Amino acid sequence: ASAPTTVTITGGGGQIGYALMFRIAAGDMLGPDRPVRLRLLEIPQGMKAAEGAALELQDCAFPQLVDVDVTDDPLTAFNGTHIAMLVGARPRTAGMERADLLAANAGIFGPQGKAIAAVADDDVRVVVVGNPANTNALIAAASAAPHVPADRFTALTRLDHNRAVGQLAEVLQVAPDDIDDVTIWGNHSASQFPDVSHATVRTGLVERMPVVEALAERLGGAAQVRTWLDDTFIPRVAKRGAEIIEVRGSSSVASAANAAIDHVRDEQLGTPHRSWTSAAVVSRGEYGVPAGLVSSFPVRSHGDGYEIVEGLDIDARARARIDASVAELIAERDAVTALGVL
Ligand code: NDP
Repeated sequence: ASAPTTVTITGGGGQIGYALMFRIAAGDMLGPDRPVRLRLLEIPQGMKAAEGAALELQDCAFPQLVDVDVTDDPLTAFNGTHIAMLVGARPRTAGMERADLLAANAGIFGPQGKAIAAVADDDVRVVVVGNPANTNALIAAASAAPHVPADRFTALTRLDHNRAVGQLAEVLQVAPDDIDDVTIWGNHSASQFPDVSHATVRTGLVERMPVVEALAERLGGAAQVRTWLDDTFIPRVAKRGAEIIEVRGSSSVASAANAAIDHVRDEQLGTPHRSWTSAAVVSRGEYGVPAGLVSSFPVRSHGDGYEIVEGLDIDARARARIDASVAELIAERDAVTALGVL
């Protein structure tokens, strides 16, 4: 067998951490042949929950799981780590201003970026799940510079991507795997833009058709498609987290963990040849997104990290929606800069 891959999960005592670790240990993220060493980072008050989860991991006797460490020391948690999944974050509490939220999270993701730079494996990959994920990733990347290249830091928009695919599959009455080339642009927030303009759906063994044409057939014409996209699809994807809370009585946990696994798996093992996925990555100015921002794009991987799919046509409607979400990212970056963090 190959040498173990070390995976660090922060917030290892939390809900998403709990949903993540068993699937990683079972081989769902890196495949059945890669032994895994798990490191769970917690703050002191979360240690018991993480330790309890570690006991359960032992009781699963997963053949691939080499060992589990639980710690409240970032330098121990990130020592030699290959994959860092930054889940633990400071949630917004009632009456909290955005600047307070950003400052509290800068106090978490700044030191974690520094610890990653100091002790992680030279080829480390980092995905930020904890919100505000894009800006937390920006802070961690800035704190790890210049030791760790910024392109090793990504933030999760795969749950939004998967939600969009799920909605389309339901309306078109096809399997999710029949739908390709959906894109989430911008911030992981209500301003995100789920874009179907390049998406296609399988109609035969190899034949595909544009999703917008398939939608027109189902909904009765192009005008109906426009209305459905603007009034139903886009808001439903962007606000799906609130819908889950309302129906389930608590936030989406298993689907968030599943998306984090999809994100890392595709980054490590490659996206399917024919298609792309969505992830928030550091912009180098692609599609007019200011360089340095961590924004969601269409991305591909050949097993060595995400690269942005370039050259797609962006019409005026899409441009306006992308710009609106990017404006929010700029405002978050400016607020963090004003706090003296960047
Ligand atoms: P969860 O595990 O449910 O959530 C963790 C983070 O993921 C939050 O920032 C949350 O954002 C985000 N998230 C939740 N749902 C989604 C979703 N559907 N899509 C994308 N992102 C999502 O929170 P818990 O409170 O159960 O666990 C957090 C743990 O982190 C606690 O055990 C705490 O002790 C720990 N922690 C650790 C820190 C550290 O390691 N230094 C620092 C702070 C906390 P949102 O708030 O928007 O829901």
